[in-house]
Amino acid sequence: MFAKTALQTAVRTSARGMATRTPIVGGNWKCNAGNGITNGDVTALVDGLNALPAPKCEVYIAPPSLYLKDVKASAKSHFNVSAQNTWKLTKGAYTGEVSPEMLLDSNIEWTLIGHSERRDIFGEDDALLGEKIAHCQSLGLNVVACLGEHLPAREAGKYMDSLIPNLQAICNNVTDWSKVVIAYEPVWAIGTGVVATPEQAQGTNAEIRQWIAANVSAEVADGVRIQYGGSVNDKNCDELAACPDIDGFLVGGACLKADSFGVILNAFK
Ligand code: PEP
Repeated sequence: MFAKTALQTAVRTSARGMATRTPIVGGNWKCNAGNGITNGDVTALVDGLNALPAPKCEVYIAPPSLYLKDVKASAKSHFNVSAQNTWKLTKGAYTGEVSPEMLLDSNIEWTLIGHSERRDIFGEDDALLGEKIAHCQSLGLNVVACLGEHLPAREAGKYMDSLIPNLQAICNNVTDWSKVVIAYEPVWAIGTGVVATPEQAQGTNAEIRQWIAANVSAEVADGVRIQYGGSVNDKNCDELAACPDIDGFLVGGACLKADSFGVILNAFK
């Protein structure tokens, strides 16, 4: 059910010993052209990434859509290139949108879906995100499905109450789990410098996996990769990477500097 990759050195075995998971680290550039706003800044970051040693984990980088094709053409082939968002339909009168078919036609095989900034700034809800996931799945586009609770839910200890509707919307629309990565990103940790503790991140990823085991299947839960995202940097990555249910990271700010991103990739050596 789960695709095997050539990256065997960094795989981790599930708690029940039934599946292996290759760690995967993503870099979300957000609305940044590399570390600046110009095509030259994009080239500088890609040059820096290309100079890094080959990673022992799977990697994707997600530049703004304007730069997807250039980054795809210039980044080394071990860097998968991902959109940050896509639309739920093929084409038509949807100003500002890019469809999954267009991504695939441009050899972009990954997309983020449901990043907290899409949810909170652009008002995307679970119903829409579910439709997007279903459409991507029908085409074989790889999806990184993001979810995470806001601070009040964490402080009240009710974070699973917040995550379960997100999980339900994701799971209701997945037909091929080999094309899905889950990114647990507590909103209070994104871009704040307040990283979840290893106990919080490991504990929540484990609870997400348990929920999937109970509501989808144990096989899917064992095999699906669950990233942690939220203020991961080159100083805190090793401790988080050592946690058995953290199968990689989704990185924002720290992915805009190739050296820092290289250290984070190396956490899964
Ligand atoms: C993100 O954008 O998904 C993210 C985790 O950002 P940061 O690493 O900057 O917190």
